[in-house]
Amino acid sequence: MQKKNYEQIKQEFHQRQTYQIIAIAIALFVVMLCAVMYKRPGVLGEYSKASLFSVQIATIAVFLIFTAYNWRCPVCSKSLGADINKRGCKKCKTRLR
Ligand SMILES: [Zn+2]
Repeated sequence: MQKKNYEQIKQEFHQRQTYQIIAIAIALFVVMLCAVMYKRPGVLGEYSKASLFSVQIATIAVFLIFTAYNWRCPVCSKSLGADINKRGCKKCKTRLR
């Protein structure tokens, strides 16, 4: 890995963090929307439980794939784990913010 300066690392981490928060918000919204549509059919049209469930599974799958791609250390590219407010990378010990 070639050296990036600390400002670049911080900036890249911040961008990844922003994308991650947006992805979580969208995923939660879609999953909850499906739950609401199931509980209250007729609000936004009627859908079968199976199709709403498929949408939820697909959303979670896309979210996980996106996370695997996005939520990585800008320096060593290792996954950053479940903590959205990571202070540093566990693998390469780089400070991220
Ligand atoms: Zn790292």
